[in-house]
Amino acid sequence: MIDFSLTESQLELRRVAREFARKEIRPIAPELDRNPDPAQSFARDLYPKANALGFNTALVQEAYGGAGLGDLDVAIILEELAWGDVGVALTYVGHWLALAPLIRGGSDDQRRRWLPQIAASPDRSFLAAICATEHGRAGDLTPRDYLGGGERRGGIEPQDFFTNYTLPRAEQREMTTKAIRDGDEYVINGTKRFITNGPVAGMYLCIATVDPSLPDALATRAFLVPAGAPGLSVGTLENKMGHRLSITSEIIFEDVRVPAEDELPGGAAALRFGLECSNTMVGALSVGVARAAYEEAMAYAKVRYKGGNRVIFHQAVGMMLADMAIAIKTARLLVYQSAWHNDNHADVPNPVAAMAKVYCSDVAVKVTHQALQVFGGYGYMRDLPLEKWSRDARVTPIYDFTNEMLRANFILPMLAFAPEV
Ligand SMILES: Cc1cc2nc3c(=O)[nH]c(=O)nc-3n(C[C@H](O)[C@H](O)[C@H](O)COP(=O)(O)OP(=O)(O)OC[C@H]3O[C@@H](n4cnc5c(N)ncnc54)[C@H](O)[C@@H]3O)c2cc1C
Repeated sequence: MIDFSLTESQLELRRVAREFARKEIRPIAPELDRNPDPAQSFARDLYPKANALGFNTALVQEAYGGAGLGDLDVAIILEELAWGDVGVALTYVGHWLALAPLIRGGSDDQRRRWLPQIAASPDRSFLAAICATEHGRAGDLTPRDYLGGGERRGGIEPQDFFTNYTLPRAEQREMTTKAIRDGDEYVINGTKRFITNGPVAGMYLCIATVDPSLPDALATRAFLVPAGAPGLSVGTLENKMGHRLSITSEIIFEDVRVPAEDELPGGAAALRFGLECSNTMVGALSVGVARAAYEEAMAYAKVRYKGGNRVIFHQAVGMMLADMAIAIKTARLLVYQSAWHNDNHADVPNPVAAMAKVYCSDVAVKVTHQALQVFGGYGYMRDLPLEKWSRDARVTPIYDFTNEMLRANFILPMLAFAPEV
């Protein structure tokens, strides 16, 4: 039987998170969002308060000081936090993407050594960071090289289309960060970019290749690295278009030595737990920002009088509002299904996590733009939150793997071998 009702404790979690978003996040978000300095727009003082409610220990098992909650519980919390500000919710997605592989795929010894520090952090500021994304392979032209006057034309030949479109994925060798074994340790070298919580994290999950001559799928491993490890440093602080209450930076590994016992078991396979969790959570935060925009648009459409009628009674606007609500509700169902899978069938790959991320993020972009449209010219002005929500939503189809990558590399291959949709 399917039961769509939330439990008493889930309703209570939602109430607490909603109250926190309303009282603590909404009042500070507009001013921080406008601060042009990304170090200052980060909601530094907010996170200890949020963590005091257990938001950074929710998924950690009770034996290690956490609440032992499931992904569905956390998805409920993140939708509410994102309603307050989606950058705040992303801070926790980065945290859980780094921790889920340890919580679900780490050894007992690793969990015992690493997880208790989260709850024990004296100022409750502990956040984790996942270090996966890189600048690209040597010889790649990044946008920054491009703007800096690098090669602007060419770079590919007609025949490259043949080789590139037929290159098997397993042959791709793209990870440039190396973890080379040296006795009982690995030595990590490489630069990671766009790392959420980068400058403030207490621990990093670093993704690196142990053998650059092997395809990524065979050689990619995950390593637990403490903040302050010799050789680990923070590089460029990113100045983002939205999500300004979160903080994003490069993380540089220069001869960082990691004991072999801090390599997660299972190689790249352990990362599945992280991605299935984060895809679900990005779905949840996308629903949160879409809901924020929808609620504002609905309220406005009922009071704005134009063209001889309330705006909601102009059918073009009314139908748009109905479509926005339908999209939000369908998106949330996909999030809940994905979270339910993670909570009950984690041993089997999640068939809907990537779908939830792709669908919900597309909904977030569309609904925030529709809400802005309902406000007409006022929606475009900075004294209302509509333009902020549009900027915030815009990145949801980009991070946590772009929607194109998820469609091509996760959803389609899974569908091709699924007996039914
Ligand atoms: C706010 C923010 C926070 C982030 N936080 C983190 C973090 O905490 N940790 C972390 O490791 N990373 C993080 N990222 C990085 C993010 O996951 C990447 O930006 C994203 O995966 C895309 O990679 P890229 O930027 O290198 O784009 P590229 O891979 O260069 O993509 C360029 C274009 O090519 C397309 N493309 C690329 N590969 C494929 C493919 N195989 N199939 C089809 N299309 C493809 C893309 O869809 C895109 O349109 C963050 C990014 C942002 C913006």
